[in-house]
Amino acid sequence: MKHALTIAACLLAVPAFAQDQTERQREAAKTEVWEPVPATVATPEGAAPSDAIVLFDGTSLDAWEAEEGGEAPWTVADGAMTVVSGSKGIRTKESFCDVQLHVEWRSPTDIEGFDSQDRGNSGVFLHEIYEIQVLDSSDNPTYPNGQAASIYKQAIPLVNASRAPGEWQEYDIIWKSPRFSEGGGLESPARVTVLHNGVLVQDDVVLSGKTEYIGAPSYPVHDCAPIYLQDHDSEVSFRNIWVRKL
Ligand code: MG
Repeated sequence: MKHALTIAACLLAVPAFAQDQTERQREAAKTEVWEPVPATVATPEGAAPSDAIVLFDGTSLDAWEAEEGGEAPWTVADGAMTVVSGSKGIRTKESFCDVQLHVEWRSPTDIEGFDSQDRGNSGVFLHEIYEIQVLDSSDNPTYPNGQAASIYKQAIPLVNASRAPGEWQEYDIIWKSPRFSEGGGLESPARVTVLHNGVLVQDDVVLSGKTEYIGAPSYPVHDCAPIYLQDHDSEVSFRNIWVRKL
């Protein structure tokens, strides 16, 4: 008898439970957002995402030109491009504003007699004027606002995530260009987030203006512009460079 009552109680409870579940699903659906559906981006391991513009795939400098125009003067070998000391920097033929930029670089192993800013110096410049420093900062003291992954002379990296000279290193840069009003006033400054070898080193840093070697930075009015890689008399190599317009 007791057993029969239990079964009866269960039969009564099932519809109530189901009703409760339906009600919960209806409530949950109210906070589900089904549009817009994000575009699908393929992310093959070790390669650029499918919606990226490949700036260097290891084989040609077609996307680049010399600082003063004409063919980019750096060498390409073994899947990497390398600074030719004294040839000056190279810049992309295409202009960019807000971007996600991936750059891999390697500083020379021949470090004898080179220290501080003279060891493995290059740079990734946004708009050709804002430098994310490239430097061999592995056991190489220098002023911290000029070490690897610094916003040169403006922001010290949160940590030193450097690898040894000769090892490939990665920068992932999220760049927001400055905005200017019609009259040429600064509406919003440039901001940058940088990961060095996967480690956060610049966290949404606000720039004070263009990179200056001497003196305080300020903003020139400008539009979108090329990405520039620096020749600082050190045979730094680069590979796997891609950019996504934001
Ligand atoms: Mg530099």
